Parts: sequence; structure tokens; C-alpha cells
Amino acid sequence: MFEKVLIANRGEIALRIHRACHEMGISTVAVHSTADADAMHVRLADESVCIGPPPSSKSYLNIPAILSSATLTGADAIHPGVGFLSENARFAEMVEEHGLAFIGPSSEHIAMMGDKVQAKVAAKELGLPVVPGSEGAVTSYEEARAIAKDAGYPVLIKASAGGGGRGMKVANSESELESAYRMARNEAKAAFGNDEVYLEKYLQKPRHIEVQILADGKGGAVHMGERDCSLQRRHQKVLEEALSPALNAEERHRIGETARQAILKMGYHSAGTLEFLYEDGEFFFIEMNTRLQVEHPISEAITGIDLVREQIRVAAGHTLPFTQEDITFSGHAVECRINAEHPKTFAPSPGLIKEYHPPGGLGVRVDSAIFGGYRVPPHYDSLIAKLIVHGQTRNECLMRLRRALEEMVIEGIDTTLPLHRDLVNDPDVINGDYDIHWLEHWMGERG
Ligand code: ADP
Repeated sequence: MFEKVLIANRGEIALRIHRACHEMGISTVAVHSTADADAMHVRLADESVCIGPPPSSKSYLNIPAILSSATLTGADAIHPGVGFLSENARFAEMVEEHGLAFIGPSSEHIAMMGDKVQAKVAAKELGLPVVPGSEGAVTSYEEARAIAKDAGYPVLIKASAGGGGRGMKVANSESELESAYRMARNEAKAAFGNDEVYLEKYLQKPRHIEVQILADGKGGAVHMGERDCSLQRRHQKVLEEALSPALNAEERHRIGETARQAILKMGYHSAGTLEFLYEDGEFFFIEMNTRLQVEHPISEAITGIDLVREQIRVAAGHTLPFTQEDITFSGHAVECRINAEHPKTFAPSPGLIKEYHPPGGLGVRVDSAIFGGYRVPPHYDSLIAKLIVHGQTRNECLMRLRRALEEMVIEGIDTTLPLHRDLVNDPDVINGDYDIHWLEHWMGERG
């Protein structure tokens, strides 16, 4: 097993990884920008190295600085966390070239799934159902028009290099297609430096259902059930639940087993997520995330499996200590993403946290790196806390979540806590009756 792991990330996810390491007797190295010198992930780590100024391009994305910090501190492995370098195939490769273990999948698998056009082709070969649309990239407007006609309107133009919902444009009819096509290409070029796009049928009322998988690359592979991440704003997840209130046992087994077989066929190792849209009993693959995800704790809550620990064990060459038969789903879990943003305008709200009181009690977990007196820097993602609540039933989980949200105090800055308090009292959310467009409609209605 590793003796020392460098965590190439910040905030709550860096703490999450630190916790798994310390529970395994592994010491940790934090890296940080000058803006994060006093951050909790730095305070709790055994060692820390400053890797650059506040902008992430000069610090958390600074590969030479991260690799030399690992060498300098004698780390055996690097965990990239979520975001930043976690899906950078070249980084994974360089970590290994430096004689260190990368706590994640192979660079080939990261590269394969990082390009969404290539990922869709691979998914089809692996036997996964995909959204109808173009076979590969669309290179001209004329081609887009022919494919759209075939698939039927509305259609969605998506960026091959896409992420975070950027570079996606809907065309409801042929008259909208040309401008959607051009806008998607321009947006993709600006955001990712790559204007390759592809076309998909736009599903009108799907749910976002994703399957958590874990594999050792040596024949061991499990799925940990699904997460329903349909409550989204601008294609960004806001609240997630596991299991999905929309699936029945047969559908759950079908999609879980399909995902498991696919990653076995790939020879994948580490944790990963296969994302699907689900509509009228059918699943359509949209992408695979070859990393840990922000919402992983709800899958941990219902299975009792520590995903980061298993990622570390697999990276150190171990096989999974359980098989699919050993995995049972217990109760229900929900995660609320609490952002430093205005709850209605979503304007970023960095600044000083004057008071912080996290909720507690049975079934309540808070993953956060904030504290009273902490100043949220303006340079990074606005996620400051994740509230994860588990209950024996969905109803118990929601009752507990309401109670936990009542208890939680973050003062001094705006947060999305009030949004969550309203959301968990809404009848549609209580009934589990929502699709990927529900949240934006709901927000529009309440003004
Ligand atoms: P990104 O990598 O940018 O997050 P995804 O492909 O994961 O892009 O899609 C993000 C979200 O966009 C999905 O969760 C869903 O809400 C919406 N979406 C993607 N593809 C479609 C589609 N074909 N029809 C309808 N909605 C879609």
C-alpha cells in the first residue's frame, strides 16, 4: 500500500480524499495556491506545498509544479480529485512516467471517454444504448440538416469536447438549425479550443440517471446502483438522490448490469460513472466520467462502500474485496450542493463566512472545507458544502433532510441553502415527480 499520497485538488474534495487516506494509515501532501494558504485542506494534510498564484491555470492546473511537489515530498501516488486535472489523460500519463501511481483509470480510458464523439462510438461497441443522432462528428451544416431530418426535431448540437453543459444548443425545427449549429461551434471553440460538434435527438422529458461503477481491471467489477441527478440548472446538478424514485427493480438491474458488463469489456479500473438519459422506460448513454463525482457520497450512503478507499486500493494493485452479490442497497440518500451564490440570481458570493454551524445527528454527513472566519476565495468553483442525508426510507430521508437544512447556518455570504429548503418542501420533489427541465420551470414560476 502507498505510504504517502499527494492530493492535487482543493476544498471539500481534497478533504474527502485526505480522510480516506488517514483512515488507511496513509499520510497526505496538500498542494495549494497562494489564495488557499490557510485553507482547511492545507491545515489537515501532513505536508503542504505552495504551487502557484490564485488562478487555477497557474496552480491547480500547473502540472510541472504538481509533479515536482510529489517528487520533493516523496509521495508514491497522486489523487486528482474532481475537476482540475482529473480527466486530463496527459496528466495521468505523466504521473506514471514520473514513477508515481495515478489514482484513477488508465490514461487511454480517460482519453477515450474525454472525447464525447469517440465515447459514443465506443459505448455503442460496448453494447450500451445511445441517443439516436449522428455517427461521429458533424462537419457541415448540410450534414447536420440531413441527420436532423432523419432523427426528427427537436435536436441538440453538442460539443465533442463538451463539459459543464457548455457548447449545447437546441434546434426545434429546421429554421433554427443553422444558427444553433453555428452557435454551438463558436461556443465550443471559445470554451474548449475545439469546434467539433455532433448531433443528437433532443429528448423532451428525460431524467438524468447515472450508474456508479467500480472495477479493478482484473476481472472484478461492480455497480453501486444509480443516482438520479435530474434536478439541474443550466445542465448543472443541484440535488441528487440514490436510488432513483423513477426506476423499478427490473430497470435498475438491467441498467446496472449493462453498465457493469460494459466496463468489464473495456478492462476499466478505478471508479467511474456512466451517465444516461431515461425516458419512457428506455436508457440512452450520454457520457462516461472517468473519475470520482461530486455526488458520490449518496452511493456510499446506500452501499456502505468507501469509494475513495477502493480507488486507492485498486491503484495500489489490489482486487476488489467484494462482488456484485455482496452489494445491497440500504435505504435512501439525498445530496444538496450548497454553493456560495445568491439563491435566486446565482450571482457568485465569495467573501468572509462569519458564522458556520453544520447540522449533525444520525444519517447526516457534511462534506465541506469551510469554517467560521474562512474567506471563500473568488477564484474557484462556488461549491462550498455538500449536505448528504441518509434514511431508511425515502420519506425518512426527506424528513431528516428538512431538519438538517433547518439546522445548517452559513452566515456572511449568500448561499443556495434557501433554495434547497424550498425545494425539499415542494410536492413534486416529495413525490419524486420531476425531469431534467423541472427545476428551471419551477424557478421561473416562483420568480
Ligand atoms: P456535459 O458533459 O456538458 O455535462 P452531458 O452530455 O453530460 O454534457 O449532458 C448534460 C445534461 O444536458 C444532461 O444531464 C441533460 O440534462 C442534458 N442533455 C444532454 N443530452 C441531451 C439530449 N440528447 N436530450 C435532452 N437533454 C440532454
